[in-house]
Amino acid sequence: MYPERPAGLAFGGDYNPEQWPREVLEEDAALMREAGVNLVSLGMFSWALMEPAEGHYDFGWLDEILDRLHAAGVAVDLATPTAAPPAWFVAAHPDVLPVTREGVRIGFGGRQSACSSAPAFREATARLVRALGEHYRDHPAVAMWHVHNEYGAPLGECYCEHSVAAWRGWLRATYQDLSALNDAWGTTFWGQTYTDWSQIDAPRFNHTVVNPAQRLDYARFSDGQHREHYALQRDILRELTPHLPVTTNFAGTVNCKSTDLWQWARELDVVANDHYLRAEQPDNHIDLAMSADLARSVAGGAPWMLMEHSAGAVNWQPRNLAKRPGEMRRNSLAHVARGSDSVLFFQWRASRFGAEKFHSGLVPHAGTDSGQWREVVRLGADLRRLAGVRGSRVRAEVALVWDWESYWALELDWRPSVDLSFRERMDAFYEALWREHVTVDFVHPSADISGYRVVVAPSAYLLTEAGAKNLHRYVEAGGHLLVSYFSGIVDEHDAIHPGPHPGALRELLGLSVEEFHPLRQDETVLLAAEPDAAGTEALPGRIWSERVRPAGAVTVRAFAAGPDAGHPAFTRHDLGAGTAWYLATAPVGGRALRDLLGPVLDHAGVSRPRGLPEHLELVRRGRHVFLVNHGDEPVTVEGVTGVSVFDGVRCDGRVTVAAGAVTVVEETPRTEGERA
Ligand SMILES: [Zn+2]
Repeated sequence: MYPERPAGLAFGGDYNPEQWPREVLEEDAALMREAGVNLVSLGMFSWALMEPAEGHYDFGWLDEILDRLHAAGVAVDLATPTAAPPAWFVAAHPDVLPVTREGVRIGFGGRQSACSSAPAFREATARLVRALGEHYRDHPAVAMWHVHNEYGAPLGECYCEHSVAAWRGWLRATYQDLSALNDAWGTTFWGQTYTDWSQIDAPRFNHTVVNPAQRLDYARFSDGQHREHYALQRDILRELTPHLPVTTNFAGTVNCKSTDLWQWARELDVVANDHYLRAEQPDNHIDLAMSADLARSVAGGAPWMLMEHSAGAVNWQPRNLAKRPGEMRRNSLAHVARGSDSVLFFQWRASRFGAEKFHSGLVPHAGTDSGQWREVVRLGADLRRLAGVRGSRVRAEVALVWDWESYWALELDWRPSVDLSFRERMDAFYEALWREHVTVDFVHPSADISGYRVVVAPSAYLLTEAGAKNLHRYVEAGGHLLVSYFSGIVDEHDAIHPGPHPGALRELLGLSVEEFHPLRQDETVLLAAEPDAAGTEALPGRIWSERVRPAGAVTVRAFAAGPDAGHPAFTRHDLGAGTAWYLATAPVGGRALRDLLGPVLDHAGVSRPRGLPEHLELVRRGRHVFLVNHGDEPVTVEGVTGVSVFDGVRCDGRVTVAAGAVTVVEETPRTEGERA
């Protein structure tokens, strides 16, 4: 259920009027009109004002603001303020304060200072949300509900007494009897067998490594506790206002590790995501694209909402670089290209005080006589012209396997190498595909993947039997699967699949691994050129090498140097109507990975534009082609016919995108004559 209002694409951001005097609020309404703002998120941190004392609710101040916004034609995404429990509440219930893994109870003064499992917090949440919902159920400004803020960041796991009590209940419900838990956790190792549920603690800080299966389950449990706190609110709001969609904003699809968004997305009426550039990272627009593609994917391909990003600098990175001219526009429209029906910001007006006073706003401290404000006004106009994009879909031929449980498991302690990283491999493959101008979806290993020409599993360390069978069926039916090293190693309890690695994928890949040979820091190996393919070059690899023994797979490239010289490095296994490829090292540099990936894409018939410069981002969404030029030179793109949305100019077969600019063309179908 996507919000009905505003029509077209939503534009605006978090609005915190309680920080400002009345004359500023009056100016806000005029400035929002000037910029074309049509949606604001309101009340996110306002619990202390909404309920100044236990059970005493005061919505008068908020009524006035909603009325003013409604009169200005601005719809409201009304937030429940539970990410900011007030001082009086925490003072009355100090047991709600979360406890870290090291056993430190945090103090009041930050945010998210209450544990999702604490009974007093859940009770106060339910009372407040009911009062808020009843008060605003019929207010014409309210278009949707925004529950809490960024579950999982900064509070992922809590180790307080309430959490431990809930954890024991979760374990009983999950395992039924204690012997099943002992088996699943392999507690015979280091003599950890439990004989009573009450003996089981949270996986607290320890002077050595804690049972990895226990830690993995605690990650699942903790994420689930936040989902329960969300669902408690959602159910009250659905009961009171069944016509209004309910969401919560993800703390960044790619950058918040503690939330399993495949599970979360099922609980939301519309997926909402926050994304902040990693300012110092070169080509950080690739991370943005990945975040947007993952948001669309967890939304099942449906349009999603960019709930927060920044107009300029943020305040929480080591060096908070300002955005360069045109960068905010490129960032915003890249999210729209990849499926967002909104461009929302934290926040409307930069704050004068508090922890985030150096975070940019749509209205900067410099005021409206500023380059940033002029870009904001221009962006509002651009988004009005793009209204026809709303609701349209992005189609991808390639999918990357992304599983949060595998992410958690892979990055627990004591793996064969500290250089094994879920994100490192995922980022490498995503970037290679981005530079090949291939739009990708992300998929869970058990999802229906039959529609993709190519599926890549960069880091599927944890793979269940069901997930492995799904990949097997996909290949047998004609799919093309590329698997990277250290995949299919363990089951859902972080126990190694029986037999040689990679237990879950041996048959599918047609090989086994006799021994891992992780490389020293900065050590490289060499993948030989393909013996039968003219023009291929030897490629360096890093991080990983291993002794692969083919059992049906053929060697495409062998290691030419390193501990496995002469043995397979890149293999191919024809199975049923499809092909399974396996890569046993990390090619050095994006070019090397693309040299391996390109032929796989070609073999599978993946369509993509050729001859474009790497920095020209091309994404098709419905009838619209988005062309984002991240470079310093103009780029002419062939094969695009239609009308350029921002200037109304017709392009017949080619369009030039200025340096740093974004062009969107609404394509017109070519006639039969043109096609011939
Ligand atoms: Zn707790």
